[in-house]
Amino acid sequence: MKPLIALVGRPNVGKSTLFNRILRQRSAIVDSTPGVTRDRHIADGEWQGKQFLLMDTGGYNAESDLISKAMLEQTLMAIRDADIIVFVTDARAGLSYEDLELGKLLKRNFQNKQLFFAVNKVESPQLIIEAESFISTGFTKPYFISAKDGSGVADMLDDILETFPELEDVPDEEDSAISLAIVGRPNVGKSSFVNALLNSNRHIVSSIAGTTRDAIDSRFTRKKQEFVLIDTAGLRKRTKIDRGIEYYSSLRTEKALERCDVALVMLDATPGIEKQDLKIINMAVEKKKGALLLVNKWDLIEKDSKTSKIYEDNLRSSMGNLGYIPVLFISALTKKNLYRAIDTAQQISESRSRKISTSALNRFLEETLQQKHPSSRTGKELKIKYMTQIESHWPIFAFFCNDPELVQTNFIKFLEKKLRESFSLEGVPISLRFMQK
Ligand code: GDP
Ligand code: GDP
Repeated sequence: MKPLIALVGRPNVGKSTLFNRILRQRSAIVDSTPGVTRDRHIADGEWQGKQFLLMDTGGYNAESDLISKAMLEQTLMAIRDADIIVFVTDARAGLSYEDLELGKLLKRNFQNKQLFFAVNKVESPQLIIEAESFISTGFTKPYFISAKDGSGVADMLDDILETFPELEDVPDEEDSAISLAIVGRPNVGKSSFVNALLNSNRHIVSSIAGTTRDAIDSRFTRKKQEFVLIDTAGLRKRTKIDRGIEYYSSLRTEKALERCDVALVMLDATPGIEKQDLKIINMAVEKKKGALLLVNKWDLIEKDSKTSKIYEDNLRSSMGNLGYIPVLFISALTKKNLYRAIDTAQQISESRSRKISTSALNRFLEETLQQKHPSSRTGKELKIKYMTQIESHWPIFAFFCNDPELVQTNFIKFLEKKLRESFSLEGVPISLRFMQK
């Protein structure tokens, strides 16, 4: 599992700016990932080849009105799951009562975690002198940084990364089970689905509490294939304070997705697809997991022979370039299509880990280039010489060409579509990389 870094601090100290700064520092690759949402508070980051999750938390406010107390509670709950906490303060605004309170609180509650202390907005020597006084928070090693111009951020990240435990690249070679994460908004029917599946299955090996208290893992076997179901049903619990709980529940989804091979994203048929659903699908796509959309409670929809076709068409038009994700209509209540969902997920998982031979890919390339020639804005012609699949957890295709700069988005989309058609990659995330040769 990737370690989770949480940024905490009172409002306006520069957490979001730092969040974006850190994410921007990752190595740039040409990647065709569609529709990445940026309004999330948790994102995947990378520094010096190490991967982590970064979380921006809501502002903490020491004033003891009700809302901020509840918000604080939620923030604390969220950072409880963090491995590393970066406490951010503001050199320009100076040290405030709230900073001191928050500092105390962090030290008291998170002694066992790695705590880093950042003094932000330090852009001049004068401000460094100013910032020295921040030692009175009790944090003896301040990092003087500027999220705005980036100074000091790299050094701090280096030190943070030092504390990462060495991650094993291949978590469990022996375990050939396919991991499925059941994700979706509250009340769409996730628990009902899991229960229906497990109750009617005679081959449940065990139903054990997962490594974290967030998700319950259950194992079952179907047609000799073992599956692990990662259930995030705990997401159901709601509170009036949405903001805080959103961090926490998206964190759970994030963690479940992290551990899965295929995400079963569940919708409620009646309201249909909403922004939040798309966000969850995007999370899975961003993590390069297989994805399958399950439209649950199909029993509640009044149907004729055309209903599912119309429904699916509408769904796909709101999904934009996520249209490659298969859709199944199910009912946890009547058990319609439950096993079809599992079988489809298995196909997706197998396609995701398949290695396509270089000769097959180059036959594909030749045929595809005959159908459509890459156009170019500058007049200089793009020449793709050959392609190959790179060893990874998901299919990455490398195209070797005369000049990667000449590749246009439309052409990437075209290649992606053709690849999916030719090698049945429905529901599978793929990446296309263009390299100079
Ligand atoms: P948050 O509420 O903690 O997330 O703070 P924001 O990231 O929204 O930043 C609050 C304000 O501080 C914005 O106007 C930022 O442009 C500014 N800011 C953030 N980081 C820096 C910095 O390193 N230097 C300076 N001078 N301003 C910054
Ligand atoms: P979760 O929060 O996503 O785990 O959702 P639950 O499994 O708790 O289901 C929420 C509500 O939807 C419960 O009242 C279920 O009985 C109901 N429900 C779940 N699946 C179906 C279904 O396929 N059809 C119908 N009609 N109701 C369902």
